[in-house]
Amino acid sequence: MEQKVLGFEFIKDMYKDDPDFYEDWLAQTEGTKIQGTKFFLHKGFLFHGNKLCVPRGSYRDLLIKKVHSSGLESHLGVQKTLYILQKILRPKMIGDVQIMLRRCSISQSQEFLSADPTHRCVPNKPWEDVSMDFIIALPRTQRGNVK
Ligand SMILES: [Zn+2]
Repeated sequence: MEQKVLGFEFIKDMYKDDPDFYEDWLAQTEGTKIQGTKFFLHKGFLFHGNKLCVPRGSYRDLLIKKVHSSGLESHLGVQKTLYILQKILRPKMIGDVQIMLRRCSISQSQEFLSADPTHRCVPNKPWEDVSMDFIIALPRTQRGNVK
């Protein structure tokens, strides 16, 4: 089965200039595989085990930002963001993640920093937070009343 990941093609050209992966990429390209390493090339992409190696640059930053600020568990701290990233990507990105979190206005806001992460959306007293759901097009009974 063939799979093609769109938008990643330019990564192949970045390995030769990347300080994190240049040596491992070169060793794989020239066929001088280092014994005991988990690095390998697959169709021009460098992998470490089952993790894609993403060179430094805007694409790595974008991936960090996506993991950090999207989904239900967004704006987690450095360690949890790293944990999620390192399940799928290589290398260690602690410096990149720390920089990204320092730039994140939501994570840096005083209200966010002081909130207990397990209770961020729970109001402290009644009527502190009110919301409404508008339900339309409810079915009608035989008499014409709304069910
Ligand atoms: Zn954040």
